[in-house]
Amino acid sequence: MAFPAPISVSPDPTAASSNSCTVFHGFVSNSSRIFGWKLKSGKREKLRLRLVSDSRNTQRLSLRASMGPSGFTQQLENKKLETVTEAEDGCDIFHDIKDRFLSFKKNYLKNNEQFQILAKGQAPKFMVIACADSRVCPSNILGFRPGEAFTIRNVANLVPPFESGPSETNAALEFAVNSLKVENILVIGHSRCGGIRALMSMQDEDDANASFIKSWVVVGKNAKIKTEAAACSLNFDQKCRHCEKESVNNSLSNLLTYPWIETKVVNGELSIHGGYYDFTECTFDKWTLDYQKTKMEQIGRLAVKDTLFWS
Ligand SMILES: [Zn+2]
Repeated sequence: MAFPAPISVSPDPTAASSNSCTVFHGFVSNSSRIFGWKLKSGKREKLRLRLVSDSRNTQRLSLRASMGPSGFTQQLENKKLETVTEAEDGCDIFHDIKDRFLSFKKNYLKNNEQFQILAKGQAPKFMVIACADSRVCPSNILGFRPGEAFTIRNVANLVPPFESGPSETNAALEFAVNSLKVENILVIGHSRCGGIRALMSMQDEDDANASFIKSWVVVGKNAKIKTEAAACSLNFDQKCRHCEKESVNNSLSNLLTYPWIETKVVNGELSIHGGYYDFTECTFDKWTLDYQKTKMEQIGRLAVKDTLFWS
């Protein structure tokens, strides 16, 4: 039964610390990391130039070494070792990634038959719409294996309504529903979502076109309006938490604005689900849209069924 979707707003003991943070806490961190990466890239570039220069020096020294005493050759070897070590330090981040890839490849080879089948095509049962946030990868959290979930991730896991026109999200939806014929669409929201904080921070007078982020998150404005109406006495962090779930429901409603999605839901070929991952508690809420009851509702609320809470 449950109208609307399960929404629990509880005081968050750690929320106070985020009060003093900037609204785009998550995005600022990412920018810092990108900046850090640029620095590393610069360091790598310098290192590459040094290697070229060292290589030329080494060639000259090799000529001299062939005529010089044996100790001099040892010095050259030491120099080479030193240079290689520096080069490796400069690429640490990709050494780690390489190790992970090779570890994945071991698993690939172990399950080669399955991967050869996947190489011919995919038939996932799930289409997943999740946030781009680096902490909430659905394959990590829910264990989707290759070929199981056609996934698109965007800021705040939003689904724009049909009438808003083309976007990456509805292009992915069209392919998943009409070509791959997925049987389930799962929209996953999450705690401490920077995109939802951006939405909740927008003032009425704000120009939605002032930034790409604003012009995107405004897709969820109905969730913000519902949150302000239902949770006006809560503090900002609590409102954000409320909106994180309300926004998932808004996306579920928006999914029904796509005629080819609604037709499949009516025919029982497609189910629409909401999910909410709380990564401070490591819990997961899941609920399923009850299409028949939603349509019977006079005031446009969502009816949901099969609610589950995993903790
Ligand atoms: Zn997010």
